[in-house]
Amino acid sequence: MPAKTKPKGTKTRIAIFDTTLRDAEQCPGAAMTTDEKLKVAHQLARLGVDIIEAGFPYSSPGDFEAVQGIVREVRGPTITGLSLCRLEAIDRTAEALKGGKRVRLHVFLSTSPQHREAILRKSKDEVLEMAVSSVKRAREHIEQVEFSPMDATRTEFDYLCQVVEATIEAGASIINIPDTLGYALPPEFGNLIRRLRETVPNIHKAIISVHCHDDLGLATANSLAGVMNGATQVECTINGLGERAGNAALEEIAVILDTRRELKRKFETGIHLKEFYRTSRLVREVTGVPVQPNKAIVGANAFAHSSGVHVDGVIKLQQRRASFEIVRPQKIGLEKSEIVLTSRSGRKAVRHRLAGLGYQLSSQELEKTYQRFLAVADQRKEVTDDELESLVADELRIAQDIYALDYMHVVSGGTTIPTATVRLRRNGEAFQSVASGVGSVDSVYKAIHQIIKLPHRLVDYNVSSVTGGTDALGEVTVRIGDKSGAVHSGRGTSMDIIEASAKAYLAALNKAVFRAEGKPARRRARRAKRTT
Ligand SMILES: [Zn+2]
Repeated sequence: MPAKTKPKGTKTRIAIFDTTLRDAEQCPGAAMTTDEKLKVAHQLARLGVDIIEAGFPYSSPGDFEAVQGIVREVRGPTITGLSLCRLEAIDRTAEALKGGKRVRLHVFLSTSPQHREAILRKSKDEVLEMAVSSVKRAREHIEQVEFSPMDATRTEFDYLCQVVEATIEAGASIINIPDTLGYALPPEFGNLIRRLRETVPNIHKAIISVHCHDDLGLATANSLAGVMNGATQVECTINGLGERAGNAALEEIAVILDTRRELKRKFETGIHLKEFYRTSRLVREVTGVPVQPNKAIVGANAFAHSSGVHVDGVIKLQQRRASFEIVRPQKIGLEKSEIVLTSRSGRKAVRHRLAGLGYQLSSQELEKTYQRFLAVADQRKEVTDDELESLVADELRIAQDIYALDYMHVVSGGTTIPTATVRLRRNGEAFQSVASGVGSVDSVYKAIHQIIKLPHRLVDYNVSSVTGGTDALGEVTVRIGDKSGAVHSGRGTSMDIIEASAKAYLAALNKAVFRAEGKPARRRARRAKRTT
């Protein structure tokens, strides 16, 4: 068992397997760069997850690179890569995990009649043979192997037992039961786990894991039913991100196990709940996928009754808290800092505060962030943690920009036709354009598009404020779709919403440009590596 178990009586340790970088990364618009994946992986380690599923190395050179980077850099959790049941895919996945101290190879294969017939076009025996030979191949490379019979909940029970027994026999020490379509009901899913434990003769040699999807809003409930029936690993994602309606939300699983007394007596996880708020925010920032305000645990309104309601006097507030809160916001790291940052705060104070928030910046990144901090602090009495985090996220992104915003001027209001002048820079070269549109943002976007001519469509445009007040930092997230169907997200903050909009659009376009221009280059590099 990879978990760092602190023995506490007779509690069962539930291993938290995070698949934000794999399952969530597959959802439209949530694609992350290698750098972004590394940042998320470091934060997941800080959060205390037991296993990080870092990607699908065989699927693309980018994924391969990211998994390799995470194996090299991230300490603490076991790192795993997902692989199809094909020998060359398994070998390539093992290559990405090479050199890692705590690594796991995760192979999956559809076992349901629907998938066997429609996708694999193979008989029961052929599928079983594929699963067994794949687990054996994986074990030749790596000690710890996990096997997932995909679409397990629609697989004939007897056949599922047969596959599980054979793959454990072949060397898999973790058996993951996915509810791939998110169709199961909690009692049904709990039953399935219990019956597997009762029926498969060698099941005690493996850890049983669950992987539930949220198509009917039951992912967390189903995962919990699995745990209550003997599963000791839960696969989940931050903010519940994932394919289609998403996966079970990591924050919900961990907080439920910690909040309900009858569960807390029996189970424990290695999660540091205080890191949740920060982790959720980071994932939101790098994926550009917003969190619904009423989302359990990490949504903006999840704790609103303690901050949004006008209460006179601290005592009354505390009384209200006790009677309304089942989870205290401080528990998940949602608290105000004691240190107040103002325009007189030096680099040291800003760096100290950022370190407290979990950001370790290079001196170049720190300097850029500090300059932006000063610009905001000059206009406001104090800069909050939220605003500071927003500035950092912006700077980390700007560092990888292909086109950078150099100058922008917008004329609008009254009867004037909104007109924008925009200047962008690429490798020191300046490009300028003027355009008019139906509004300020529209004119800016048209001007930018005249410079970066990449064909695309705007999928989504979202404005919110980081803090309250008309002098608040505005935050804009934009998602664009390119010709290949890929969706790219961008985020920008500024005290001026037009500027934030321009930054967000540019960030998304930069990703699209990177994909359009960068991909052939990377493919060439991979081919070259292979022939040598
Ligand atoms: Zn999944």
